[in-house]
Amino acid sequence: MSSTTVQAFPPSEEFAAQANANAEIYDRADADRLEFWAEQARRLDWATDFTDTLDWSNAPFAKWFVGGKLNVSVNCVDRHVAAGKGDRVAIHWVGEPGDTRDLTYSQLLAEVSKAANYFTSIGLQAGDRVAIYMPMVPEALISMLACARLGLTHSVVFAGFSSGALRSRVDDAEAKLVITTDGQYRRGEPAPLKTNVDEALGTGDDAAKSVEKVLVVRRTNHDPGLNWVEGRDVWWEDTVEQQSDVHEPEAFDSEHPLFLLYTSGTTGKPKGIVHSSGGYLTQVSYTFHYVFDHKEGRDVFWCGADIGWVTGHSYLVYGPLSNGATEVVYEGTPNSPNEHRHFEIIEKYGVTIYYIAPTLIRTFMKWGQQIPEAHDLSSVRLLGSVGEPINPEAWKWFRDVIGGGKAPIVDTWWQTETGAIMISPLPGVTATKPGSAMKPLPGISANIVDDQGNPVGAGEQGYLVLDQPWPAMLRGIWGDEERFRDTYWSRFAEQGWYFAGDGARYDEDHALWVLGRVDDVMNVSGHRISTAEVESALVGHSGVAEAAVIGAADETTGQGIVAFVILREGVENTGDELIAELRQQVSVEISPIAKPREINVVPELPKTRSGKIMRRLLKDVAEGRELGDTSTLVDPSVFEAIRSKKA
Ligand code: ATP
Ligand code: MG
Repeated sequence: MSSTTVQAFPPSEEFAAQANANAEIYDRADADRLEFWAEQARRLDWATDFTDTLDWSNAPFAKWFVGGKLNVSVNCVDRHVAAGKGDRVAIHWVGEPGDTRDLTYSQLLAEVSKAANYFTSIGLQAGDRVAIYMPMVPEALISMLACARLGLTHSVVFAGFSSGALRSRVDDAEAKLVITTDGQYRRGEPAPLKTNVDEALGTGDDAAKSVEKVLVVRRTNHDPGLNWVEGRDVWWEDTVEQQSDVHEPEAFDSEHPLFLLYTSGTTGKPKGIVHSSGGYLTQVSYTFHYVFDHKEGRDVFWCGADIGWVTGHSYLVYGPLSNGATEVVYEGTPNSPNEHRHFEIIEKYGVTIYYIAPTLIRTFMKWGQQIPEAHDLSSVRLLGSVGEPINPEAWKWFRDVIGGGKAPIVDTWWQTETGAIMISPLPGVTATKPGSAMKPLPGISANIVDDQGNPVGAGEQGYLVLDQPWPAMLRGIWGDEERFRDTYWSRFAEQGWYFAGDGARYDEDHALWVLGRVDDVMNVSGHRISTAEVESALVGHSGVAEAAVIGAADETTGQGIVAFVILREGVENTGDELIAELRQQVSVEISPIAKPREINVVPELPKTRSGKIMRRLLKDVAEGRELGDTSTLVDPSVFEAIRSKKA
C-alpha cells in the first residue's frame, strides 16, 4: 500500500454542486476556531445562551459553551415537531424476524414523554445513572432520549455481552434502573436476555446494591417461565405505556453528563468514557450535517452500528435525530434470514447514505457481489466507513458494488473518547484516496509526531495527537481521574496534547493515513511495520476475506509477524501452496521484511461488538499465554477453533 502511487478520486461536479460543504469552511474554521464552534453550537436550540465558547483553564477537563443550558431530547425531537415536521418519519425500524415499525417525530415525542414520566414517577432525578441492556428495538432509542430529557446519565451495555460484563458496568456506574427486554433475536432464534440481567444483579448478599428497578420490554415473548422479582421488575407495557404522553422538559447545563460508554476493550480493560451534553451534541450534529451531506426531508440514512457502540450513540441517535433525519434502525444480523437482508432494506426504504464498518464490507465481499447485484441500490449516493482502517481493496469494492461506481466514501476516524467524527474527507470537497481518512475536519486540529513530540516528515510513521480541545471530547473516565490523565494526557504532558493511541503518517500530499494502534505496530529486526498494512496486503489476495496480523515475541528478530486469515467462500485451502502465495503477496506489496513468519488459516477471528479484531488476544494465543480480558468479545468460543487450526 504505497500511498505515493494511490489513485485519488476527486468529487464529481454533480456532487460538489449540491454538497453542504465547500472548501471555504476550512478557511473559516482556521481563521477563528472558537468562533467557528460557537457558530456550530447555534445549530442547536439553547434555553439559555452560553457566555463563553471554551474554558480550558482546568485542562485536561474542558468546559464548552459555558453557562449555556439546553435539553438534548428537545433538540432531537420536540423542536422538529414544533417546526411542523411531526409527520416526518424519524425511524424506519426493521426487526430481525421481519416485523417493522415506523415512528414519526410526533410519535417519538409521545413515546419519549411517556418514558420520561415513568422515570420521574419512580423517583429518578437528574444525575442518576440508568443502564440500558437491550437489543436494537425502538424502546432502546426511546429510553436513551427519555434519559437525556431528564438529565439521567445513560450507560448502554451491548446486549451481546455476558451477565458478568453487565454487572461490572452496573456497579461501576451505580445504576438505579436497568432497562432490558425479555429476550432478543439472535440469528433468527429468540434467546433469553432478562435471564442475564437476573444473573448479573444477583440476590441476597450478592445483589447489585444500586439497582432499584428493572424495566422489561416484551420483545420475543418466548419464555413462559420468566423469572420475576416482585417490587423490582416491571413490564414496560404496564408502566411506561400507561403514562401521559405529555412531558414538560427542563434544560440542563451544557456540561451535564449525557452518557457513559465503555470502550471496546481492544487494548485492555474497558474504560467508562464520560460525555457531555452541549459540546457533544454540537459536534455530532455538525458532523452529521457536513460529513454525511445530509439533506433534511430527502435523505434516508442508515448507520449499521449497534447502540452498544459509540457509533450507535452518535450516528444512530443523537446526530441524525438532532438534524431531523429519517433513518433506518435494523435489529438483527446481516445474514438473517439470509445474506440479502441489508440490500433488501436499502432497496425497500431507498437508503441514500449508508455507514458501516470495514469488517462488514469484507464480509459482503466474502459472500460475493451477486448478492448486492440482485437488488436496486441506485438510491445510495454516499457511503461511510468507520471502526478500523479500510483496506483499499474493500474501499473500491464498496464504491463500485454498493455505490454504483460513483458514490463518495467518507472514511471517518474517531474514537469513543472523541465522541464524534474527527478526521474524514468532506464529500463534494475532498479528493479521496482509498484507505486514507484524509484530513481533520474544519475546527479539529491533529498532528503526527515522534516520541519527543516533533512533527514527523511525509512518509514517516508517528503518533496521532489532537493538539487542540474539541467540543465532543470526553470529560473523563467515570470515577477514575488518574487513569484519564494517565491514558490520554501523560504521553505529551508537556505540550498538553491528547494521545489517541493510534499510529499514523502523512503522505507527500499531506493526506493522513491511520495505521492502527501504536500497540499494534510491530518491530521486526528494527523495522517498524504496521499490522494494518500487512493485513491490507493479505486481503489483497483474491482468496482471502479477512486477516489479522500480530507481532509475537521472537528470539532472533524481536518480533515475528504472525497472521490469521479467513478464506473467501468457495476458496480451497491448498495448504503450503496458498501460504507461499500469501507470503509472496506481502513481500511484493510491502517488502520481504514484512513477510509473515507464520500464517494460520482459521474459520473465524475474535471480534468485539463493533467488529474490531482483538489482536491482543491473538497475541496471547501466538505467545502461548492465558487469554486476557475477554469480556467484550462477541463470541469467546472462537478461540477453540483458532487454537485447533493454529500451525
Ligand atoms: P479500547 O480503547 O478499549 O482499546 P477501541 O479503541 O477499539 O477500544 P473504539 O473507541 O470503539 O474502541 O475505537 C476507536 C479506534 O478505532 C481508534 O482509535 C482507531 O484505532 C480505530 N478506528 C476507528 N475509525 C477508524 C478509521 N476510519 N480508520 C482507522 N482506524 C479507525
Ligand atoms: Mg481506544
